[in-house]
Amino acid sequence: MRVSIQGRTLELALGDITDQEVDAIVNAANSQLAGGGGVDGAVHRRGGRTIMADTTKRYPGGCPTGSAVISTAGDLPARFVIHAVGPRWGGGQSGEAKLLESAYRTALGLASEHGCASVALPALSCGVYGYPIDEASRIALATTQSFLEQDPNVQLARFVLFSEGMLGAFSAALEELSS
Ligand code: ADP
Repeated sequence: MRVSIQGRTLELALGDITDQEVDAIVNAANSQLAGGGGVDGAVHRRGGRTIMADTTKRYPGGCPTGSAVISTAGDLPARFVIHAVGPRWGGGQSGEAKLLESAYRTALGLASEHGCASVALPALSCGVYGYPIDEASRIALATTQSFLEQDPNVQLARFVLFSEGMLGAFSAALEELSS
């Protein structure tokens, strides 16, 4: 599924984010930038050790929840990896929605600052961090839509979902948003 936003594209795809041939891929990182499972495991496995070497050197203090940092993409087809730290779901009363929104917004802003025309994003916080998918998908897509409306650089934002179920949830949210 794909929608056009002032000539820019927001689309949904099923797949593995580490396969994406785009300028930047967004990683679902943790605040220690320590490496983990899910997206992060795949990024470091496929991208090789230079990614961790670069983040350790440039961001020794890690990255706060709700923010993002950028690194080399090592052996991945992308030029950059943007490590975004979404919140861990704790019931919804701990500012999770704002943190998830700012993780996406910061990640997209970094892509723009680095001249990226195309960005692939995962469903931040929807794996081990346990964010309810319906709410997370609405935040992810609304934040990206409003970013694309304002940003001159990013022409394509592609959400890469890892299962049919996730793709279905994101498709429903995108339909709702664009209707
Ligand atoms: P978080 O810790 O932020 O919850 P995870 O990496 O555990 O992040 O999961 C985020 C989402 O990404 C989940 O929906 C998960 O199924 C999905 N996912 C896991 N591996 C990949 C991958 N290689 N490409 C795209 N999505 C992935």
